[in-house]
Amino acid sequence: MESLTQRAKPVDRRPMNWLEKIYLWEIFKGMSITLKHFFKKKVTIQYPEQTRPFSPVFRGLHILNRDEEGRERCTACGLCAVACPAEAITMEAAERLPGEEDLYREEKYAARYEINMLRCIFCGLCEEACPKDAIYLSETFAPANYSRKSFIYAKDDLLIPDPVTNPEEYAKAKGLIDKKKNLKS
Ligand code: SF4
Ligand code: SF4
Repeated sequence: MESLTQRAKPVDRRPMNWLEKIYLWEIFKGMSITLKHFFKKKVTIQYPEQTRPFSPVFRGLHILNRDEEGRERCTACGLCAVACPAEAITMEAAERLPGEEDLYREEKYAARYEINMLRCIFCGLCEEACPKDAIYLSETFAPANYSRKSFIYAKDDLLIPDPVTNPEEYAKAKGLIDKKKNLKS
């Protein structure tokens, strides 16, 4: 029969010779493949102690941004929620009160801001839509969890640490501090 792919291998039906019957040769062949892999560069890493560097275009978990004075940038305009194709973003707006100028940058802010990470497809359209540089996708991802509810990230989970009161954590969240555990590719 004519072969379409040149990959067909006819089954060898001739009787086995004595060397084939004792299977030793086949065992040595298998062991040599195992041995070869001992000296090859390992493709596995010790996750989570070690992580691989992310691609520059990787889009991970969202961060709600603050300005350099530590004020929340989000004005609860809703553009990110409108742009989101997965309808993963929910928010409630509130008016800034007198005396809260050092907490919120604009007159309006998000009293509630939630992202459902099970719906999110990490497309980055929320980041693109935001006129206030208030949300961006970081180089990390939502860790595994046991319940669906725990994948709904509230504002406290998303908000970046305050650069004034907690500069080290802020720099880490911004990726300004090297992640020393990352492997060089
Ligand atoms: S990354 Fe895409 S899917 Fe996820 S919240 Fe933003 S717009 Fe929605
Ligand atoms: S994150 Fe940006 S786009 Fe979304 S509500 Fe806040 S200011 Fe508007």
